Amino acid sequence: MNLGLQDKVAMVAASSKGLGKAAAVGLAREGAKVSICARDADQLNATAEEIREAAGSGVLAVPADVLAVPADVTQREEIDQWVERTVAELGPPLIAVTNAGGPPPGNFFDLNEEDWQAAFDLTLMSATHLAYQTVPHMREAGWGRLITITSISVKMPLGNLLLSNSVRMSVIGLTKSLSNEFAGEGLTVNSVLPGWTRTERVQQLLQDRAERDGISVDEAAAGITHNIPAGRMADPQEFGDVVTFLASERASFINGVSLQVDGGYYKAVY
Ligand code: NAD
Repeated sequence: MNLGLQDKVAMVAASSKGLGKAAAVGLAREGAKVSICARDADQLNATAEEIREAAGSGVLAVPADVLAVPADVTQREEIDQWVERTVAELGPPLIAVTNAGGPPPGNFFDLNEEDWQAAFDLTLMSATHLAYQTVPHMREAGWGRLITITSISVKMPLGNLLLSNSVRMSVIGLTKSLSNEFAGEGLTVNSVLPGWTRTERVQQLLQDRAERDGISVDEAAAGITHNIPAGRMADPQEFGDVVTFLASERASFINGVSLQVDGGYYKAVY
């Protein structure tokens, strides 16, 4: 299947590691020109090099055009600069993937109102601002894909993750609203919901749990995977490839969905 992504400009936020990086790899392998951002310039540049190499194993078998721009997604002017450089160096972005680090864990009385404000800025406003900066380019082209990375927690609130459970729901409200507003102009807007995915962050979390509970990392993982019908966590690329498909020409009639990539972890029908 030709995904029709060749030479399309794709911006993937918070993409030096983990799910964002996997989305960028998937897009680059299909020939998209990829613009990535994260706060740490050294890590980001190393990731850009990895993506160029990974793209060489994709459909085009040539190193991809990858632009790396250090930016903190909570800082509007840094997002603006990232978009400006992308337009100048790669062309207008027709694909945007919103993403950020997760808000801190905690239950209700562990958190104060500053924590809520910070989670709102990190999770909702970073996605909203990237949409403000990229959707006009998509409308002008009459084609676009806006994809928000959220979490399975928008369907099934998770223990001790009150901020994630609450604020990510508002990203779904944004996603669904924009999918209605711009569908007639050739844009699709969807959310992809990761379940447990073995990124470096999750690997670290497993190591912490193993040390805390005096068990092995495999035992710590088994405490999670016994609830996943697939019997394992996802590899990040299994997530990145779903983002890539939703960004493609072939996904033109998928609009407004919240698609979990969780190996069946979410048990309900709707
Ligand atoms: P990760 O920590 O491996 O990667 C996060 C990336 O975001 C890194 O590149 C980091 O540098 C970048 N980043 C963080 N804050 C940033 C900021 N303010 N500005 C710019 N870049 C920033 O995390 P991950 O596992 O890839 O998760 C990505 C998102 O998905 C997080 O919000 C996480 O909570 C959520 N999530 C992850 C899982 C999972 O199992 N991995 C499951 C559900 C939800």
